Amino acid sequence: MTKLTFDITPIAIIDTPFQQKFTIPRQPNLANAPGIVKFTPEFADPRCLKGIETFSHLWLLFIFHETLSRGWKAAVKAPRLGGNNTLGVFASRSTHRPNGIGMSVVKNEGVKDVDGQKVLLVSGVDLLNGTPIVDIKPYLPYADALDNATDPLERYASIPNREVTFSEQAASYLQSAHNRYPQLQQLIQDILRQDPRPAYKHKLNDDPKTYHAALYDLDVSWRVIDGRIHVSKIAPADS
Ligand code: SAM
Repeated sequence: MTKLTFDITPIAIIDTPFQQKFTIPRQPNLANAPGIVKFTPEFADPRCLKGIETFSHLWLLFIFHETLSRGWKAAVKAPRLGGNNTLGVFASRSTHRPNGIGMSVVKNEGVKDVDGQKVLLVSGVDLLNGTPIVDIKPYLPYADALDNATDPLERYASIPNREVTFSEQAASYLQSAHNRYPQLQQLIQDILRQDPRPAYKHKLNDDPKTYHAALYDLDVSWRVIDGRIHVSKIAPADS
């Protein structure tokens, strides 16, 4: 067979709150996480964005750049199926895939001018800060939303919905940071209610371990106590 290879050039880099993979939701729109798509000089041409404001949602195609060097796996563990069950890479949304390409539907929050450059605002992202975007396409409900689509494994993928509580310190930090990050409390709630711990820990309703979410330049400490997610501390990441 003829070997075909293609060069792919990022068209943009996306800024997101997520500084680490841990705590990023498994799919888009599970948290109202904002993203700022910043175009590279070659693609910062305003003509490329003409008409984009007419679409409510967009597909972002991107590279799983953080895990790319680890290559791909033909089969991936699916802990939610129980035991050591696996799924084929093409039957999964695994990050370890040939070509490392990811795709997410996100909400279009509009185009804005920042320092004379056009940036694209989106929300509902499941992407690491700094992820290279390789293409953007409009989401077309008539073609992309299929009423008769099924996912037989959906029942295994039920997403936890735990109550999230905040310590006095965390609540007062949120207040003091409100001007900089007005949606931060909602973002923390959206992310943590899904219990980002590994699936095998989900049955633990009291977990002695303190976990951390790296959001923006902040370190958010949390634990699972009595079935709830308790945010014990929010502090600058470098403190
Ligand atoms: N919606 C996309 C898809 O289906 O192609 C991504 C799904 S993937 C299961 C989502 C996970 O990818 C996130 O929870 C995060 O752990 C990981 N992730 C996000 N951005 C990444 C990046 N740039 N490099 C590697 N992993 C990333």
